[in-house]
Amino acid sequence: VNIFLFNTLAGKKEAFQTIDEGRVGFYSCGPTVYDYAHIGNFRTFVAQDLLRRFLEQQGYHVRHVMNLTDVDDKTIAGANQEKKKLEEFTEPYVAAFQNDLNTLNILQPNYPDKQPRATQEIPEMIQLIQKLIQKNAAYEREGSVYYRVASFPEYGKLSKKDLGKNVTGVRVDVDEYEREEATDFVLWKKSKENEPSWDSPWGGGRPGWHIECSAMSMKYLGTSFDLHSGGEDLIFPHHENEIAQSEGATGRKPFVRHWIHVKHLLVDGEKMSKSKGNFFQLKDLLEKGYDPMAIRYSLLSVHYGAQLNFTLQGLKEAGEVIKKLDDCYFQCLTHANRTPGGNKSGAQLGKKLDTAMNEIVNALCDDLNISKALALFHEAVGLINRTIDERTDLQNSAVSGVTFFNETDRLFGFDISKIAETPSELLHALLQREEVRGASDFKQNKELQKKSDELRDNIGMRGWFVKDLRPGEPSTLKKKRRVWDGVQVNR
Ligand SMILES: [Zn+2]
Repeated sequence: VNIFLFNTLAGKKEAFQTIDEGRVGFYSCGPTVYDYAHIGNFRTFVAQDLLRRFLEQQGYHVRHVMNLTDVDDKTIAGANQEKKKLEEFTEPYVAAFQNDLNTLNILQPNYPDKQPRATQEIPEMIQLIQKLIQKNAAYEREGSVYYRVASFPEYGKLSKKDLGKNVTGVRVDVDEYEREEATDFVLWKKSKENEPSWDSPWGGGRPGWHIECSAMSMKYLGTSFDLHSGGEDLIFPHHENEIAQSEGATGRKPFVRHWIHVKHLLVDGEKMSKSKGNFFQLKDLLEKGYDPMAIRYSLLSVHYGAQLNFTLQGLKEAGEVIKKLDDCYFQCLTHANRTPGGNKSGAQLGKKLDTAMNEIVNALCDDLNISKALALFHEAVGLINRTIDERTDLQNSAVSGVTFFNETDRLFGFDISKIAETPSELLHALLQREEVRGASDFKQNKELQKKSDELRDNIGMRGWFVKDLRPGEPSTLKKKRRVWDGVQVNR
């Protein structure tokens, strides 16, 4: 199949083509670890996760790199304020970020083993800066090094900015008053007092933010790679500068083939800000009792290039959706487990679900058309519910349903099918309870009713629910695992 993605560099949808067949080099700009990440950040990471899952589902081997910015003005200011060493200050935020990724079921970046950190990649950055100086694309002034934008005529090709008209020589940043042109940006900053400092050919200092990503992405993915992504605010200047640095140093073009940018979200129709009280970090929502998968659903359900308006009402609705998916899955699971030997290929439903899966994939091939993909997904879930309700070829249909949830989880990451089996003793108790309830005098017999309740309570104590359907119909089991089931999310 052909995958089409909107490429910011081309300014249009393009067929996705990799440099090496079957392999994707994918770089995501990671967080600056001076605070916990907020839901705006996570919208970007969830969108990138969908892209990665989709590519993997399509058989690509994805090498996904995401850096951690653990030195910059904010991290230094935070560490100084708390009178801590830089690493001591950033470490808890690194751990929290990785934890948050797990909570939202976002796949961890898979290369290298540990997420690369700016402070541990400084020799590579210095080398890259030296190369730029050799090529006359950078210059040193009083211990700092700047990129000479005039040396790179294509500057502006990503953001479509014409900077020729903006070079005014206005000095805005007092630290950078030695720049030749106002558009030149810093590659290496001479350290001030009370700042962490690394040795360099230009004296003690620290890297600028933009050079970090050029150095780390090329180190782990090569001088030319397939995919680079971030929030839309990174297009300029960050990604524009990355292109100038990388292509300026290596002469290899393009530095990146496909640039994917995720649009920012609004909260209640407004830009998120601490002063407006509409600023949410993930922990804020978890503390309010929202389920992580409802949060994931909310962030994922709008196309990455469209504005997402995040509301608590929307989050509640997403919670209802997750509940419905859970219910459908556990119906399938219980029926598949109670009458083993079902077979997906034997079921009419299985064939229909295969078709649905193909349609979902086709929707995602069109620049990750998530609205269409989710509409098709819900249609298929409705079909599963109807088929199970009607008891059509129940044994095989139930297995088809379970398989479908496994496949769609791999793609959407909603984590519905995490529990693959009902413990056999609980299933046994369920069947026993049905026998009791099936007795002809059940409605009059207090003993039998008591026995039925006991069996239900025993199952409940093991962390499972019994869901009774219509009278005379088999019941199903559901694992307590969501916030609304009374299970707290560990963080
Ligand atoms: Zn970056």
